[in-house]
Amino acid sequence: MSARRVLLLGPPGAGKGTQAALLVGRLGVPQISTGDMLRAAVRAGSELGRKARSYMERGELVPDALVIAAAGERLAQDDTTRGFVLDGFPRTPEQARALDALLAEAGVSLERCVSIEVDEGTLLRRLLERSRIEGRSDDHEETIRHRMRVYREQTQPLIDYYRERGLLAEVDGVGSVEEVSKRIEEALDA
Ligand code: AMP
Repeated sequence: MSARRVLLLGPPGAGKGTQAALLVGRLGVPQISTGDMLRAAVRAGSELGRKARSYMERGELVPDALVIAAAGERLAQDDTTRGFVLDGFPRTPEQARALDALLAEAGVSLERCVSIEVDEGTLLRRLLERSRIEGRSDDHEETIRHRMRVYREQTQPLIDYYRERGLLAEVDGVGSVEEVSKRIEEALDA
């Protein structure tokens, strides 16, 4: 039986978004990506978007309070009762504690955290490629390097957070999309 309340963790360029999209197709649960939500808010020019924009352009994390409120609203929607795949949230210990509290309020808890592991050379190559193809404004080399540093300093501690709670599965993220997807599937069934 596959876990259905799942978090994908990994540095920028690890393939979280791609793998989350495949996973939601298989599990029939929604994908919750704070990055996508924030980009949509910026495009819409909403209050959240106006507040988040400069952080995103600089490759900084958007302040916890804003992201936690947005994720909390999304998680409160009915379609999450069957499960969800979180992609890009939580990214700080404070966000992780807030997520635990939000789920506890709903009487549920996270079932698995999959950490997608990719070395920095591969990440940089992938992100520069994405920058050429998609023209994402936060995918320039300086910003990419900064986002990797932000990941190491602020998000990597979550690996221990979830390991201590017995929820962590580490998956090799180098290989084809299909290979990595298979490894994630196995980690969720284990
Ligand atoms: P992503 O598409 O997940 O790489 O997110 C793109 C950008 O959105 C990040 O570089 C952050 O500026 C912002 N962002 C997305 N999710 C979060 C989060 N959980 N906490 C803080 N900032 C976030």
